[in-house]
Amino acid sequence: MKFIQNYIGGKLMKPSDDQYLNDYNPATGKVYGRIPDSDEHDVRAAVLAAEAAFPAWSQMPIEERSAILMRVSTLIEANLDRLAEAESIDNGKPVWLAKAVDIPRAAKNFHFYATAIQHFATEAHAMTNQAINYTLREPIGVVGCISPWNLPLYLFSWKIAPALAAGNCVVAKPSEVTPMTAFLLSEICIEAGLPAGVLNIVHGLGPKVGEAIVKHPKVKAISFTGGTKTGAHIASIAAPEFKKMSLELGGKNPNVIFADCDYEEMLKTTVRSSFANQGQICLCGSRVFVERSIYERFKKDFVAKVQKLTVGDPMAEETKVGAVVSQSHQEKILSYIALAKEEGGTILTGGHAVQLEGRCKDGYFVAPTVIEGLSHDCRTNQEEIFGPVVTIMPFDTEEEVLGYANSVRYGLSSTVWTTNINKATRMAQKLDAGIVWVNCWLLRDLRTPFGGVKDSGMGREGGFDALRFFTEPKNVCIKIKQD
Ligand code: NDP
Repeated sequence: MKFIQNYIGGKLMKPSDDQYLNDYNPATGKVYGRIPDSDEHDVRAAVLAAEAAFPAWSQMPIEERSAILMRVSTLIEANLDRLAEAESIDNGKPVWLAKAVDIPRAAKNFHFYATAIQHFATEAHAMTNQAINYTLREPIGVVGCISPWNLPLYLFSWKIAPALAAGNCVVAKPSEVTPMTAFLLSEICIEAGLPAGVLNIVHGLGPKVGEAIVKHPKVKAISFTGGTKTGAHIASIAAPEFKKMSLELGGKNPNVIFADCDYEEMLKTTVRSSFANQGQICLCGSRVFVERSIYERFKKDFVAKVQKLTVGDPMAEETKVGAVVSQSHQEKILSYIALAKEEGGTILTGGHAVQLEGRCKDGYFVAPTVIEGLSHDCRTNQEEIFGPVVTIMPFDTEEEVLGYANSVRYGLSSTVWTTNINKATRMAQKLDAGIVWVNCWLLRDLRTPFGGVKDSGMGREGGFDALRFFTEPKNVCIKIKQD
C-alpha cells in the first residue's frame, strides 16, 4: 500500500487529522494507495508556508529561479519510467502513452517556463516630450492551482510552472482521483532544491481542499482546470473577492471533415482525436461531421479501424485503449450510451463495458464506441461525455455544418479537414472555439494561447499569456520636464 503525503513548507507530512481516502487502480478496480483527506487546516498551513516563502522567492534573481525550475524539469526526465508507470496505474492510461506524452510534456512545461521567464519583457509607452510610461509585471503573491484527473502531471505542471517562474508561491491540489504523480513531484522538488514553502501540494477532496484554497483570503488568484459546473461554482466564490481567475473548462469539440481532405491522414488522425487517452482529453473531437459525398466510405473505414483498437491492460505495449478513470466515470459513460440509444442513435461499434481476464478482470473498461443517426441538438450531441464515445453525422454545406458545430454551449477546440485553404480559413474564422486545428490535431506549440470560449472557460494559458495571468501589471508614468 502506497501512502501519499502532503507537501507543505518543504516537508512531506500527514494531513492534520490523520484521515485518508482510497486511491484506486482503475485497471484492476483495487485500492493500491492512501491519500490524505486534508481539510482547511492543511490549506491554512500551506498558505502560511507560501506567504513566508514569497519575499525571498519573488526577489530571487530570475536566473536562479530559472535554474531551480530547470532542475525540476531534468529530474522529471530522469524519472520518466517511474512517473509514467505511476501515471498509468493511477489513471488507467496505457503506460506507453504516459511515457510518450504525459511525462515528457510535464518536463517540457517546467523547461519552457524556466526559459520563458528570462525572455518575458514588459511594455513602455513614450508620450512625446511629456512623459515615459513603463509597466512593471509583479508576481501576485500566493496563488492556487487546481487540476483534473485526465492528464494529471501534464496539467498540474502546466499551471505550477508559470506561476513559480513568475515569482509566485503556490498552493496546489491535484485531482483526488489521480494524486500519485503530484506526490512524486513533491519529492522531485525537494531534490531539486526548491526552497521550502514555494510550492505546497495539499491532497484531498475538491469540495473540501479545493474550495478551502479558493476561499482563503490570502490566495489572490486561482488557476483551475476541470468541469464547467465546478468552474462556475469556483467563480461564484472567487469573483466577489475580486480574485484573478483562469478557468479551463469542458468541451464538446467538433471535427469537420470535408470531401477534399487528405483522406488517409484524416482517417488516422480522427481515430486518435476520438479515442486517445480513452477519449478523456478536453480536446478530443467527440462530434464528427462528414461531408455527405464521403460519409459512407468514412463510416466503413472508420469503424473498421476503431474495431482494431486493442482494449487492454494499460501495462501492455499493444494496448491502445486502457481503463477509464473510475467506476463512477465508467457508469457515466455507459449512461450516455444508453441515452444515445433512447434518442434514436445506432451503435456502429462498441457501446458496452469490456470485461478483461486476469489481473484486469475488475477494471473499468469501455469499448471505443461510434454512434450514428442522431441529430446535432440531442443531449448526446450537446453534453460532454468525456469518454471513448463519438457520434458521426453527415452534412452538405459549410453553412449547415457551421450551424451544427457552433450549436453547443462549449467552445474549446475544433478540427477542420480540407485541402482548400479558403475553406479552411473561412471555417477557422467562423467556428466558436479558442483553438482551431486544420489538417492536424493536438499539434501543440507551448507559446500559443490555450483556452476556450463560451462555457469552455475564461482566460488563456500557455506562452506569455500564463505569465501575464500570474503577474499584476503596474504602470509607472514619469513626467519629463522640458528645460
Ligand atoms: P472536476 O471539475 O470534477 O474537478 C477538477 C478539479 O477541481 C479536481 O481537482 C477536483 O477535485 C476539484 N474540485 C471539485 N470540486 C471543487 C470545489 N467545489 N472547489 C474547488 N475545487 C474543486 O473535473 P474532473 O476532474 O472530473 O475533470 C474533467 C473535466 O475537466 C472535464 O469537464 C474536462 O473537459 C475538463 N478539462 C478541461 C481542460 C481544458 O483545458 N479546458 C483540460 C482537461 C480537462 P476532486 O478530483 O478531488 O473532486
